[in-house]
Amino acid sequence: MTGRTGGCMCGVVRYELKSEPFDSGWCHCRTCQLFSGAPAMAFTCVPREDFAWREGEEKVRWIKTSSFGRRAFCSQCGTPLQVQVDHQPETLDFPIVTLDEPDAVAPEFHIFWRSKVAWFDPGDALPRHDKFRPDTRGLEGTEPPDNSSLSGGGGRGHV
Ligand SMILES: [Zn+2]
Ligand SMILES: [Zn+2]
Repeated sequence: MTGRTGGCMCGVVRYELKSEPFDSGWCHCRTCQLFSGAPAMAFTCVPREDFAWREGEEKVRWIKTSSFGRRAFCSQCGTPLQVQVDHQPETLDFPIVTLDEPDAVAPEFHIFWRSKVAWFDPGDALPRHDKFRPDTRGLEGTEPPDNSSLSGGGGRGHV
């Protein structure tokens, strides 16, 4: 146990990590924009077995956001809590800001830069990828396997 903990805005849903998060980055895709109500989301990652719901799991709702991805949120306050994709079955992503100490984990790259909102300038020198990173497991090249998303796609959303 690292003791690293987090949860939602209303405090009903709480989680604990069993290992240190890794592979942190910004996503600028349309799905992240609409799911968060913000220009981008900053995610980090742990093995699925290392993310434990500690309180309020019954309030966690899942929504299928593409043919290969689903997202969790608190049904009481709406805070986004997790993203899982079929092509990365061993890990899950979750928003860095839901950690009780969000300063402890910093993004290392940007993905879906081509969908970035024009007026949003992250002001960093991190690597920028138009879509997925070239080495994203389970995907060919940088192309998502399809264009499906709740928003009707347009080819911009990914999970
Ligand atoms: Zn909540
Ligand atoms: Zn995204």
